[in-house]
Amino acid sequence: MIKKIDHIGIAVKSLEEGIRYYEETLGLKCEKVEEVASQRVKTAFFEVGEVHVELLEATDAESPIAKFIEKNGEGVHHVAFGTDDIRGQLQQAADAGARLIHEEPFEGAANKLVAFLHPKSTHGVLTEFCAPK
Ligand code: ZN
Repeated sequence: MIKKIDHIGIAVKSLEEGIRYYEETLGLKCEKVEEVASQRVKTAFFEVGEVHVELLEATDAESPIAKFIEKNGEGVHHVAFGTDDIRGQLQQAADAGARLIHEEPFEGAANKLVAFLHPKSTHGVLTEFCAPK
């Protein structure tokens, strides 16, 4: 079952410049920077009440974030729903006709299991499910 919106993922060209905006312009505090090698991204997290903002910078040209920025420019990349049963959530989405990018959850940032639904089957929003490991 989905419990909350866990975070909003935002693609940026430069994590450093992204962090500067969120800290200096919005007055938020960067909690941590973490590289997720499997996804070829470096992430920065900001706590905003119960929700987090996750900035994502590509670590190489083959990164999904590099491809996203090439196509769309910087901006909102995904919405992540926190769930207590990620496999059940994926099954429910698949049964309802959504296209899964990942059949199996994998280890994402912040020590969580994550999996994505394809935006072509979710009305244009790359949808992440995440659950504590
Ligand atoms: Zn995410």
